[in-house]
Amino acid sequence: MQGIYAKGTYTPKGRTEALDLQALSRILAENRQPQVLEDAWTGWHAVGRPMRSDFTEYVRLANAGARELGFADTGVLWRSKYDMPANDFAHEVERLWSELRPLYRSLHAYVRTRLRERYGPKLVPDRGPIPIHLLGNMWAQSWENLAADMAPPGTQPSYDLTEVLRSRATQPIDMVRFAERFFVSMGLDPLPSTFWERSMFVRPPGREVVCHASAWDLDYVADLRIKMCIEITGEDFRTLHHELGHNYYQRAYAGQPFLFRDSAHDGFHEAIGDTIGLSVTPEYLVKVGLLARAPPAEADLGLLLRTALEKVAFLPFGLVVDQWRWRVFSGDISPEDYNQSWWEMRERYQGVRPPTERREDEFDPGAKFHVAANVPYMRYFLAHILQFQFHRALARTIESQGPLHRTSIYGSRQAGERLATVLAMGASRDWRDALEALTGERAMSAEGLLEYFRPLQRWLDEQNRGEAVGW
Ligand SMILES: [Zn+2]
Repeated sequence: MQGIYAKGTYTPKGRTEALDLQALSRILAENRQPQVLEDAWTGWHAVGRPMRSDFTEYVRLANAGARELGFADTGVLWRSKYDMPANDFAHEVERLWSELRPLYRSLHAYVRTRLRERYGPKLVPDRGPIPIHLLGNMWAQSWENLAADMAPPGTQPSYDLTEVLRSRATQPIDMVRFAERFFVSMGLDPLPSTFWERSMFVRPPGREVVCHASAWDLDYVADLRIKMCIEITGEDFRTLHHELGHNYYQRAYAGQPFLFRDSAHDGFHEAIGDTIGLSVTPEYLVKVGLLARAPPAEADLGLLLRTALEKVAFLPFGLVVDQWRWRVFSGDISPEDYNQSWWEMRERYQGVRPPTERREDEFDPGAKFHVAANVPYMRYFLAHILQFQFHRALARTIESQGPLHRTSIYGSRQAGERLATVLAMGASRDWRDALEALTGERAMSAEGLLEYFRPLQRWLDEQNRGEAVGW
């Protein structure tokens, strides 16, 4: 299945060369002609079709293995890693989602209205799900590529990090240094010299490599590396903070017994670097010399909207990939309903629909890497919530007075110490102990995320007045 996915290409109508996922994704990000978008979307999704029988067999085998290990099915096995009964964990993620749903619905309604203005009511009716190919991303898991279309006049973000970095002729290695400097500013050690010698920062000439950014801990002690094809963009600037978050975690728990050299739960591993990324505020960019001065408060809505199009839009997708697989593994969804149930759930959670009718001989879940490659996905949903919970707690640690989206923990030893304590615990304790050490709370909470976006939520609700909300 991974091989089919990796080799997937499609030749769009009217073109002669076959395009890979990256090129097709660029069409979805940049093009605004519905037929072109639909063609690229449908073309890529054909990649799932030949996986269908393999996937059915894989579910059978995975379940057989899970049962031999004493679990009811593979979904239960996956949910067993959260220090609570598997079904309690399923309820826990539903609880978190129910807290976040109103904010997502507000964003969804606002985006639908703007898309209706652009594409007309025939394609985008004033109620009902949004056609997925219009959202700027193959899976509609981030709507960030619509940021310029969504911001009404006067609320544009007042700077573009990509332009700032390029205007300063920033090099890939400089980008890594910026990220490292953030951790060092909080009192953590610089990365070892082997990190700089052995990492892959740019695409090497003359050979094929996997460019998808990743962080590695080769010997489970100190051989930390990243593998990435760094481009000079704001997105990669933030991605580097994310990847180094993994490396700093890996180094911090290297003192634990081998089996505890892991994060408190998998959502923690993904959340640490993103927490640092939330501190990449205008004020931080001023401090490190990338911006001359921070934009005024009027710029906040544009900045918040851009972040929400990335991180709030992601939430229901982050939830649905494994909600669907859990039901597949438990037998609640049978092979003859794979595709129909996938779209039912995507509509229920995300409020999106495919551009054309999808039939049962298609296998659209396989058009997402983590399904084809058998990688659990719930960690990303958890990380999107935890990073705001962590950020809020660390903002309180440094007694920040400003709003959360203008708070940076850059340079705070106090925040660094708190973080370091939790990282060093690794997986040696119940994750609730780790959470408590960092935040003082023993339950995951959506409150940090909601507080962060509260000014935006208020503004969205004003914009949505008189419009249908929900689908
Ligand atoms: Zn990651």
